[in-house]
Amino acid sequence: MRVAAILLAAGTGSRYAATTGCATPKQYVLLAGQPVIRHAAEALLPHVSSIQPVGDPSSLNDALQGLAVLSPVQGGQTRQASVRAGLEALDALPPEQKPDLVLVHDGARPYVTGQLVANVVAALAEHPGAIPAVPVADTLKREKDGVIDGTVSREHLFRAQTPQGFRFGLFLDLHRAAASLNATDDAKLLEESGFSVALVPGDEDNIKLTYEADLVRLERLIGPTLLPRVGLGYDVHAFEEGRPLIMCGITIPHTHGLAGHSDADVGIHALCDAIYGALAEGDIGRHFPPSQNEWKDADSARFLIHAGQRIRERGGMLVNADLTLICERPKIGPHAQAMRERLAALLEVDVDRISVKATTSERLGFTGREEGIACAATVSVLVP
Ligand code: MG
Repeated sequence: MRVAAILLAAGTGSRYAATTGCATPKQYVLLAGQPVIRHAAEALLPHVSSIQPVGDPSSLNDALQGLAVLSPVQGGQTRQASVRAGLEALDALPPEQKPDLVLVHDGARPYVTGQLVANVVAALAEHPGAIPAVPVADTLKREKDGVIDGTVSREHLFRAQTPQGFRFGLFLDLHRAAASLNATDDAKLLEESGFSVALVPGDEDNIKLTYEADLVRLERLIGPTLLPRVGLGYDVHAFEEGRPLIMCGITIPHTHGLAGHSDADVGIHALCDAIYGALAEGDIGRHFPPSQNEWKDADSARFLIHAGQRIRERGGMLVNADLTLICERPKIGPHAQAMRERLAALLEVDVDRISVKATTSERLGFTGREEGIACAATVSVLVP
């Protein structure tokens, strides 16, 4: 069985343009970096023997460049006229390439699955037409003058999707015979001539891009899969007299500061290492070697800004960070909120993603003897 698909791009997408103010016809809007219709073509290609695009040929050639599709043909004034143009182009193919079955698909439905195509094609063995459809789940109300005028039974009601499938010869004949009719969907021609059209299970994710919110939902379906990764960072600095005590980006009044090549911000250093660790990009010393004089007394804020940028450059996001400062003094509690706010600002995330807490070590070990401060940090990131 040869199955051809007519890919429609002739619509102007007036509803989408009106609600979003976007001048680009919706089938050419970029979704995860490429035109919506290109996603549709790529999704269909493995499941059909040929694709006939219909619409503005130059826009289609740009959007579908490099894909194994037939030469685009100009669309018509109506959906029906555009489908007819696609059917005539398929009928003009050499006999060995002419399809037995034809699918008609909206260029603005990019998330069509092989399963959906298989459902439609399978039903065409029994029926001259088949369309995917999903049951209406919401209660339906009829409106009059802004108030409810009645409840419509949703029993037996379905929302039609595409690709709608037909036996090629019959569908072409009906189109040629019904040239004056304006059918808004393809199955209607068969219905009106008394042919049976099967309803096969559709897919709630087979969304037709109509409103801006659809684009967000489609990005989620089509965009790269983000996987969670975690990182651990740990740092220690010794106390030193005569230096300011800088922790988590803020200066804290204390008898001692911390010794180090940079400003010795033990909190930021641990946090940076946790982020680099989650990304498997080494540690802070690799990005900012202490051997380089450039980083002497450096404000560690710039290290954290860099670590945050690396997450974004990898196409990821910080889920949360949790820091534990280990020291007997100073008391961290009164400063924890300011620390969280500063770290969140440097990472460009909401403050509720950052936790700063503290513990003592019960006077045991180097932190217990107040020789220095340690910090442990964990982060969780999502990365493609
Ligand atoms: Mg350090």
